[in-house]
Amino acid sequence: MALTGIQILKMLPKKNCGECAIPTCLAFAMKVAAGQAEIEKCPYVTDETKATISEASAPPIRTIKFGSGDSAFTTGGETCLFRHEKRFENPTGIAVLVTTAMSDADVDGRIERFNSLSYERVGVIMQADLIAVKDADGDQGKFTALVRKVIDGSARASLILMSDKAVNLAAGAKICGDRTPLLYGATADNAAEMAVMAKEAGCPLGLRGSNLDGTVELSEKLQAEGLKDLVIDSGARTLRACLEDNVVSRRAAIKSKFKPLGFPIISFPCEMTDDPMMEAMISSVLIAKYAGIVVLSDLQGDILFPLLLEQLNIFTDPQRPMVVQEDVYNINGPDENSPMLITCNFSLTYFIVSGEIEGSKVPSWLLIKDTEGLSVLTAWAAGKFGADLIAQFINKSGILDKVKHRDLIIPGYLASLKGELEEELPGWTIIIGPREAGHLPAFLKEWKPAA
Ligand code: SF4
Repeated sequence: MALTGIQILKMLPKKNCGECAIPTCLAFAMKVAAGQAEIEKCPYVTDETKATISEASAPPIRTIKFGSGDSAFTTGGETCLFRHEKRFENPTGIAVLVTTAMSDADVDGRIERFNSLSYERVGVIMQADLIAVKDADGDQGKFTALVRKVIDGSARASLILMSDKAVNLAAGAKICGDRTPLLYGATADNAAEMAVMAKEAGCPLGLRGSNLDGTVELSEKLQAEGLKDLVIDSGARTLRACLEDNVVSRRAAIKSKFKPLGFPIISFPCEMTDDPMMEAMISSVLIAKYAGIVVLSDLQGDILFPLLLEQLNIFTDPQRPMVVQEDVYNINGPDENSPMLITCNFSLTYFIVSGEIEGSKVPSWLLIKDTEGLSVLTAWAAGKFGADLIAQFINKSGILDKVKHRDLIIPGYLASLKGELEEELPGWTIIIGPREAGHLPAFLKEWKPAA
């Protein structure tokens, strides 16, 4: 069971020296208990205490990292069953499969789509993370050539190497160098040699059980061999069985601290159907229910985009509003005569409003006031978007040096602020903008300075 902040505090030296970058030992202990600070940051804790605290405060689903630099990938580290209980930590990685049985053109197409399919939404870049390279026929030469092709073809792809042969995985891992791959394919039949190989290669190992009981057995066996970084697959290849196994695994790890299943899950929608739409549907269920990695047979925009969007929604921290920085944003190259608009810093509002302004092609200044991530009306109701605060922000924002006019366009929903703002900003003309962002382009095209 995880230690409380008070239990951790009892093990600290209580110097309150601040060398951990946190002013007091109590505050540090609370952050360690909440998983927001690492015990290593205190230089005065003994190794023994560090080991005790690290072990006790480790998440029930082990965090597994592989790759490096642009290709670094993290999975696991989860601490809850439902997102609203706290948050989900590491987004499900989306992988595309390439195999030695595919033609060069098929492999090149998948690598090209992996590199090019990238989307930006609310300031976040969304794209697939991994390429799974499968040894389809045991031919080491073909397998290592395919690994080389993938490495050369994509600098940012994290790699999963798949083979039944430990020796082939070892050869593939050697080619990857410091782009440490996840090695997949330990089964009951080859567990011993896969364990030796993964330890020598210094890579995490994926295991495939014959069913959930077999997965538990195999996980225990590999851990007894000294392997700590595992990724598990119960071997289920139907949606129903896979969903059941994923849920049982997650519940056992979180609720019962059952260590053999306390690892990220890899799932293979690509092996569950030949229908791309069905594969997308299966993937969406498994992203929602506990897959750390899903492997797809191909990447197409109409399938990848909704999956990435689902991933973004599920793995956004519900306790932390998405915000953009308070600032003056110039859109379409504004000058001293361009319109000036103001809104809140809730990122969805910002991206919708800025997108409409951009689409209008009207050069504009967009002032973003820090409202702690609250939307316009909520921020106003909470006293974070009142006339006095808006006036203070405008006066210190630097916009007065950038424009000649003194016209401010406010959101239509804040029409009632007009009078108060005119009192707070003497000499200004407060213009009530449209209620809906979609009406901004027409509004801006009509706009002229008041004086
Ligand atoms: S460095 Fe250690 S002793 Fe100093 S305040 Fe932090 S936790 Fe306490």
